[in-house]
Amino acid sequence: MDNDCLFCRIVAGEIPATVVHETATTLAFRDIDPKAPVHVLVIPKAHHRDVLALAGDPAAAADLLAASAAVAQAEGLTGDGFRLIFNTGGHGGQEVFHVHAHVVGGRALGPMVSR
Ligand code: 5GP
Ligand code: ZN
Repeated sequence: MDNDCLFCRIVAGEIPATVVHETATTLAFRDIDPKAPVHVLVIPKAHHRDVLALAGDPAAAADLLAASAAVAQAEGLTGDGFRLIFNTGGHGGQEVFHVHAHVVGGRALGPMVSR
């Protein structure tokens, strides 16, 4: 655990979150500032700063993907579709440096990025 990391502190139970799914290696909770009717963050419990670091731990990456799919299913998003987003680094707009997948859906989301 990284004591300076917001999401590690959520995993540790030090900061409250609305948890919607949990496995031995992953935690999923609602984004505090949702951008769509469904906006859930899915994280590995182990600290990896971004998706590049996570790629070095294939088992954790697979667990995160499976948990993201389970969340999409549980939130009723698999029929109409949804978006799975890993913001990475400066140009990617990453704000929290504990890797997280955004599961976003519940409405048509428009173009993938603006020009
Ligand atoms: P990023 O920009 O790093 O991809 O996304 C970080 C996300 O974390 C943002 O969507 C932001 O709303 C969310 N967030 C920031 N602080 C908290 C928090 O304390 N609790 C929850 N549940 N979400 C947070
Ligand atoms: Zn962390």
